[in-house]
Amino acid sequence: MAHGGGRRLDGRVLILRGGLVADPRTGTEQVADVAVSDGSVVAVGSVPDDPSAEVIDVTGLVVGPGFIDLHSHVHSIAGQRLQAMDGVTTTLDLEAGLLPIELAYARAAADGRVLHYGFSASWGDARAVAHLGMAPEADLEASLSMLGDPAWQRTSSAAERHAWLELLESELAAGALGIGVLMGYAPRSDPAEFLDVARLAASTGTATFTHVREIVEADPTTPVDGAEEITRAAAETGARMHHCHVNSTSRRHVDRVLGLLDGSRSAGSDVTVEAYPYGAGSTAIGAFFLAPERLGAWGLVPSSITMVSTGERIASLARLTELRATDPGAVCVVLFLDEDSPADNAMLQRALAFPDAIVASDAMRVEWPGGVVDTREWPLPPGGQTHPRTAGTYARSLRRMVRETGAWTWSEAFRRCAYLPAQVLAPFTPAMRTKGYLAPGADADLVVLSPDQITDRATYLDPTRPSTGVVHLLVDGTFVVRDGALDTTAYPGRPVRR
Ligand SMILES: [Zn+2]
Repeated sequence: MAHGGGRRLDGRVLILRGGLVADPRTGTEQVADVAVSDGSVVAVGSVPDDPSAEVIDVTGLVVGPGFIDLHSHVHSIAGQRLQAMDGVTTTLDLEAGLLPIELAYARAAADGRVLHYGFSASWGDARAVAHLGMAPEADLEASLSMLGDPAWQRTSSAAERHAWLELLESELAAGALGIGVLMGYAPRSDPAEFLDVARLAASTGTATFTHVREIVEADPTTPVDGAEEITRAAAETGARMHHCHVNSTSRRHVDRVLGLLDGSRSAGSDVTVEAYPYGAGSTAIGAFFLAPERLGAWGLVPSSITMVSTGERIASLARLTELRATDPGAVCVVLFLDEDSPADNAMLQRALAFPDAIVASDAMRVEWPGGVVDTREWPLPPGGQTHPRTAGTYARSLRRMVRETGAWTWSEAFRRCAYLPAQVLAPFTPAMRTKGYLAPGADADLVVLSPDQITDRATYLDPTRPSTGVVHLLVDGTFVVRDGALDTTAYPGRPVRR
């Protein structure tokens, strides 16, 4: 079912007539027609009428390449549909990754996927194999629950390090999209380990996607500043290194971290960075940096944390300790910046505005009462909980950066949301070389949106409200969204592998 359902216009031509066509590869915006056939863009310009073609008038709308999310943990139909309504056509879990990826790809294909999907090799799971003798089954929730285990967090022995490096190498050989490194969850581990991961990425021509360890401002006793670890390893090994969600790991120190990345890039390192436009993060309650003794470093209190599945706002340090012990993998939302504060909002804005910063959502799966984590029902049943970034990251970024502030042109917005993320993977992923731009030969992964109406609607209290303003969404030439409505029969998503 990797390519079933929906209505792909095989052999037939679809013409999107008269939209504002934005191509981020060339930085151009022009009123033009776009013709699509057999899953590819076949013409951009003035396309003559053809009685056998299907023609859709998109006058007044913006047409661009569908968004490519380098950081999505949804792994579900419900989650992918929320992302589709947000303009996304490719969802990749590169920060955490899954192991074994063979199983991850097989499960997604058997289940059917609305959007394209792919996974990195999971450093966290490979360590769990080496340290704990675990046999991971490509299950992110199981991985999250082990991250709080001190036996997982400690520095590896030489034999363990050798074992997990070999495992990562075999995952890369099997098609994993680089290496996902949850360093922030093992922040006392020997920095030499990270250098070994960087060397593996360099020798295989792939990349690392890192949730960095603590930065010095938050933890003066950290073995190395989390952001500096990236820039040093990139300089030393030449590896491509992607810094995940700089907003949530840098918080009020984001200017210092962005300056560091800027210097590294100017010196020729292949360092990329992503951000999402929310003042709260989301992770497992057992995470190292949510330990009661660590909260103060970030100016947090227990009530900064809300449990996703129950809505419980943590009332005390004792309750935090209890939850970490009983269900360390349970997902929570952590308020680290105040979105009502102009200064904090300006900081989020600066992270997005940083030259070449990529928009990535860190989308989390939706959970309903009773442990339900996926559904083919649409609209989604009420009561689903997640972080609102799952549903709203892209529409919110466009609203703020294009509509409200004019900081980005449309083609710049598509560069941040589609072209640059494709370029991170393209050197080692042929499938990405025809994504992220809009010209003949590009994949027919397209978003058509209303420039006046595009907006997020998801909130912390009601996080599964889909964005509005995505009028049409084509994935591999198949309509997933048409006239603003989701096609519940469409499952055109295909695997993206190295
Ligand atoms: Zn993360």
